[in-house]
Amino acid sequence: MESYSVDEPVYALATAYAVSALAVVRTSGKGSILLLSKAFSRPRKLLAADNASLVHGHISDSDGTLIDEVVLAVYKEGHGYTGEEAVEISTHGSPTVLRRLFVRLEELGFRQARRGEFTFRAFMHGRMDLTQAEAVEEIVSSRSVHSQEKALERLSGSLRRELGDIRRSLVEILASLEVQLDYAEDEILEDWLFPDEEVDGILHRLGLLASSYGAGRIYRDGAIVVLAGEPNAGKSSLFNLLVKEDRAIVSPQPGTTRDYIEAECEIAGLPVRLYDTAGLRTGGDEIEDEGIRRARSLFEKADLIVYLVEPGRPLPDDIDLERTLIVHSKSDLACGGGLAVSSMTGEGVGLLIDKIGERLHEGEVGQGAEGPSIDSERQLACIRSCIQALEAARDNRNQSVDIMALFFQGALEQLGLITGEVTNEELLDTLFSKFCLGK
Ligand code: GDP
Repeated sequence: MESYSVDEPVYALATAYAVSALAVVRTSGKGSILLLSKAFSRPRKLLAADNASLVHGHISDSDGTLIDEVVLAVYKEGHGYTGEEAVEISTHGSPTVLRRLFVRLEELGFRQARRGEFTFRAFMHGRMDLTQAEAVEEIVSSRSVHSQEKALERLSGSLRRELGDIRRSLVEILASLEVQLDYAEDEILEDWLFPDEEVDGILHRLGLLASSYGAGRIYRDGAIVVLAGEPNAGKSSLFNLLVKEDRAIVSPQPGTTRDYIEAECEIAGLPVRLYDTAGLRTGGDEIEDEGIRRARSLFEKADLIVYLVEPGRPLPDDIDLERTLIVHSKSDLACGGGLAVSSMTGEGVGLLIDKIGERLHEGEVGQGAEGPSIDSERQLACIRSCIQALEAARDNRNQSVDIMALFFQGALEQLGLITGEVTNEELLDTLFSKFCLGK
């Protein structure tokens, strides 16, 4: 493919373009070491360097003027992130140094890498499959400890292994079909029987992967947690405490929070979109009623509702307990029993955070929290198509063997698309162009 050719040596800044102690510039591609040696103070040392070794020295302009003191990390072909010959240059983190270094690298014959090009090269050289490449992108952009952990897990190949297992089962079925196709009818000893058990097993595993996408959604986009309760229950105070800044207006006047306010925060390692809603009270004015209507529509999409009850106030009766955590507020005034917090003193807030984390993990999130999970619409679409192909095979079990083989080949192809064993240019272009430079 044009935009991501792997023939030329490339470079890119892998760290932020800002004043900092150090900056790392990556280079990769055949000839990188030789090219760099032309601007390096100890060329022989560099050319003789072992794989994964460090060489200290200086890089200079074409007229010999010093650019910076550097440490080069050398990777021989077949090693390192891309699997290509590569050198990582650690310089001082000065934009002036970097600008001069880039000019020098261009002179030497490197071109600037495109977005995701290093990962693309790693993929092309078999260092990782597409699910792992997507995980790299996710780690770089992850918004919480948990989503980062999940992405790391995928990078180590848990999804690839699961897909590999499923693939092997499919290949076995296909092989048994192909035996039938290869021999004339009279040479075959027995008829082919539809492998119900195997196909059901595969469909079950694919179903689990498809449902893990819901969990992935929470890790990636954030869980929706809504604070609810009567006016004055202490929602805004708790909201401020959880998002650690004064966002909501706290006031002793009932009905202050007329609409809802939202903030992104991290709770128990999960990215959370936290909403503070209007107090649930009837008989307010029109605007407040509108606030309440909006709050109710939020409840519908909430992953968890944290319902605050002031001391002495009754528990709500029409609440969906599956998705609700009842919390007694203002525990410094009176102890309401059960899970109790005080936004005034901070008492019980740590426990509340743990409970929110627990509930989010054990709920819908929990389904995909264990075991391999998928993390993109692209992967989900392929899994769905694979399921469809297998269901179609099952529904057409009485068709001829060659038609049956087509269904199973279709299913295999969809699996291959997920990992990149089967690819097309457009897919790779869209996927890698989402990366940041230097990755
Ligand atoms: P909201 O209407 O549910 O958002 O409630 P607010 O957070 O605006 O709080 C209503 C009133 O209760 C304010 O005067 C707060 O200062 C007070 N309040 C909130 N949380 C606590 C708490 O934990 N302890 C005490 N003593 N007062 C609180």
